Amino acid sequence: MLREIRSKSINTLLLLTVAIYLTLLLGSLPGSANAETGIVSGSVVNIRSGPGTQYNIAGTIYKNASVEMLSKTGEWYKVKYGTVSGWINQSLLSKNTSEKYLKVNQDVVNLRSGPGITNKMVAQVYKGDSLVLLEVQGEWNKVKTASGQVAYIRSDMVGEENMPAAAVSVSAPASPIPSLPPATGLTNPIVMLDGKQMAFEVLPRIENNRVMVPLRAIFEAMGAQVEWNQATQTATAVKDNITVVLPLNSTQPTVNGVAWQLDVPAKIVQQRTLAPLRFVGEALGGTATWDQANCTVVLQTPPPPEPVLQPLPPPVPQFEGLRMLSERDDSGLRIVMGSSAKLETKIDKTSSKVRYEFSNRQIDGTSYIEVPFGTQILKVQGSNQVNNAVVEIQIPAGVEYRTATELEGKKEVLTIPNFITGVERKTFGSSGEKITISSNLPLTYTSSQTGTRLEVVFSNVLPGKALSDYKYDSRLISSMGFKTKTTGSVSQTVLTLVTNKAAKFSLGSSSDGTTLNIMFIDQSEIQPRVPMVVLDPGHGGKDTGARGYNVNEKDVNLDVALKVGQILTQKGIKVGYTRTDDTYLSLIEEATVGNLYNAAIFVGIHCNSCDNPGPSGTETWYYAPSTIPELYIQKDERYSLATYLQKAMIAKLGLNDRGVKHGNLAVLRNTQMPSALVEMAFINSPTEGELLKQQNFRQMAAQAIADGIAAYMKESIKR
Ligand SMILES: [Zn+2]
Repeated sequence: MLREIRSKSINTLLLLTVAIYLTLLLGSLPGSANAETGIVSGSVVNIRSGPGTQYNIAGTIYKNASVEMLSKTGEWYKVKYGTVSGWINQSLLSKNTSEKYLKVNQDVVNLRSGPGITNKMVAQVYKGDSLVLLEVQGEWNKVKTASGQVAYIRSDMVGEENMPAAAVSVSAPASPIPSLPPATGLTNPIVMLDGKQMAFEVLPRIENNRVMVPLRAIFEAMGAQVEWNQATQTATAVKDNITVVLPLNSTQPTVNGVAWQLDVPAKIVQQRTLAPLRFVGEALGGTATWDQANCTVVLQTPPPPEPVLQPLPPPVPQFEGLRMLSERDDSGLRIVMGSSAKLETKIDKTSSKVRYEFSNRQIDGTSYIEVPFGTQILKVQGSNQVNNAVVEIQIPAGVEYRTATELEGKKEVLTIPNFITGVERKTFGSSGEKITISSNLPLTYTSSQTGTRLEVVFSNVLPGKALSDYKYDSRLISSMGFKTKTTGSVSQTVLTLVTNKAAKFSLGSSSDGTTLNIMFIDQSEIQPRVPMVVLDPGHGGKDTGARGYNVNEKDVNLDVALKVGQILTQKGIKVGYTRTDDTYLSLIEEATVGNLYNAAIFVGIHCNSCDNPGPSGTETWYYAPSTIPELYIQKDERYSLATYLQKAMIAKLGLNDRGVKHGNLAVLRNTQMPSALVEMAFINSPTEGELLKQQNFRQMAAQAIADGIAAYMKESIKR
């Protein structure tokens, strides 16, 4: 396996230095314009005044620094970094070559000894891993891994790597590298710090074969001061002369301003930051080793620093910071690159990439951003190249963009205007049809209907992938098309849709607003406005709801709902359902189906669940906030419906009365008629979970819900 933890001791004296210094003993060496470049692969690497460990340590350099390789003597390279030069052992340098790199694009991929799946599996690589392409053989690639292993990988498991080549080490690893056990997700590793076992509020864990450990607890135990900045979502740890900055979700934390490359970003678990072991163990100069047999992480803090005999060198010249961020507004998705002073920028544009080079700037904060839009992801990669900051933005195929300068030249902005990313027609229920329109940003729209013609006007969205003409051979929708309407400086996208016969439509957006469902049902199938109940058995299909002991909530809900329907039908009350079998409806669709029926009331049927087996009993929810007038005017009816249901269930089932509750649940918010949602009992409770499996309990629950509905309807007719 290739997922590794490296154990390497670090000369602690050197950790006192800032990024790099050189003594004056060393003469400056002439640079060569076409020298090869190399990337420092060790965490903190000594630069020596001659080619061997017997020579003085002239300075240190941090991981991922790019150096010029001037000459070679034995195992030592003479290198130049900025204005300084010296010797570095070859095992700590990677050559930057013109080799082609691939990036693994699947979570876990097998590497094989030959080009075909019948060949022996020799290793596994993980999403984001870099590989050197050696040869293409049909559908297989011969590749070299970061640890130098040569093997084969299927070509559809990798994409082309656009990052600089620094990530791949050409030399053999400096020390034997223990590998991790296969991730079971069940084991929490033990952490030993300087021989003592640590206790944590949030346990270390193995995820995707990486050991993730609590950052603050370990850093503090190593003697660092740790601060968390909520606004920037960044952890900063300071110990002696070492400053570690770790933005959440970034794979490039910095140690004294120099970036480390992580395989996986830090994450928050129960309000604690978990970060990859090797980084946490080594960033402050300690060592981290993995004891596989005992599932134990062994951490060692560095010994106290030795006295410094010579004065620290003058600091490296400081550059202005360049910050990158993404934001969304009415104009679209914006990638903003800003600085506190006017930028001097060179922009290279192609249809697939925009490259910004900012003179005399260094990236400050996050250097990599991924922004999802529609079904795509926009990737923004920043890097520091000598004195300049470079930002590269990959533009997905077919996506338009524009660039602009803002704030008196202090900001460069790349904007991807909002556009329609997909249009789809589907059927739903027994005879309904729906059009789903997706966009990269929230859609704003108005709609109007004249006869069989529906018009939806979208503001601030370009047609994008939407076509001017769709023809359908379906029962309801006959044709549809999008066009752009420009009035003055305002452009709108207009959808015109024609149905074959009179249809009732209803619009509903997803919670993030990027998807609009337009749903149609045949007007002739709509029930006349008579008392009718829509029963909504919660969940269904891929959504199992809560899980009990050998029973899924979705099945209990459906069974009870059908029983309620039967009882109500016998009482002469009309009934409709959001589902009558094991199918999946989104929350918007459940409410929309209810609305389309024109029903008098809507009742959601659910089972409760909780993280622990303690809680038990019955509760009923309604929603009628004063902030939503159309719901608030139904306040009394909604509360009354919930109360009738709750009372009837308590009387019949005799479980703990948890009461009537007010809450913003999607189906209650989106239903136009009075609605309530019952939680019959706790499916994860040992006793109530057992009850919910029994037919006679379900029958009693159904009877109670039917009684509550009948009582409410009788009462509401009186009004
Ligand atoms: Zn539920």
